[in-house]
Amino acid sequence: MTSGAVTRLGEISARIDAACREHGRDPETVTLVAVSKTFSADDIRPVLAAGQRVFGENRVQEAQGKWPLLRADFRGIELHLIGPLQSNKAAQAVALFDVIETVDREKIARAIAAEMKAQARQLRLYVQVNIGEEPQKAGINPEDTGTFLAFCRDELGLAIEGLMCIPPANESPETYFEHLATLAKDHGLRRLSMGMSGDFEAAIASGATSVRVGSAIFGSR
Ligand SMILES: *Cc1c(COP(=O)(O)O)cnc(C)c1O
Repeated sequence: MTSGAVTRLGEISARIDAACREHGRDPETVTLVAVSKTFSADDIRPVLAAGQRVFGENRVQEAQGKWPLLRADFRGIELHLIGPLQSNKAAQAVALFDVIETVDREKIARAIAAEMKAQARQLRLYVQVNIGEEPQKAGINPEDTGTFLAFCRDELGLAIEGLMCIPPANESPETYFEHLATLAKDHGLRRLSMGMSGDFEAAIASGATSVRVGSAIFGSR
């Protein structure tokens, strides 16, 4: 029997392709990050078997509990950290993940830089922007993007490849997606991680190069 997640993975991929066509974009330029947080290794296996290779997790500890096992069984997995990172988990995160999307303050940028050096590992990095300037949300303020990117580059030698955001809930996301796209362009960054289950098509319209889709694939959490 085919897992429901595999059926839904196919449907989401088709919707990504359709959104790309509608907005004159090559589907090859949009990566689907399947967000598997809270789901078990056994829930994830069928999705891997169906060919999906890029996954997102929001907690280091939880990811550590399932991905080393899955990596032993499937080649070519690319794992993204999409949740907040504490400095005391930086070593573990750098060892486990391929991409960290939540670089959001000097202290964590320093810790990541030090660990990448110590472990001789090059991760791909995104800066998280608090695009709605919400007090409770992680991310640097939009107006500090340039200063923070310069700090990462000049002080730490980090190559940041893009920007990531989570727009405010219960508001239409379009203006936030457009704002993040403008910030990335202004700072010469080509990658944009934005869009989740409820709004990935709008994100693609605004230039997302990766979308992070969880519940629409794996089911509700
Ligand atoms: C959980 C999560 C997602 C996926 O959300 P869905 O609505 O389930 O698609 C995307 N991005 C981040 C940062 C998340 O924590």
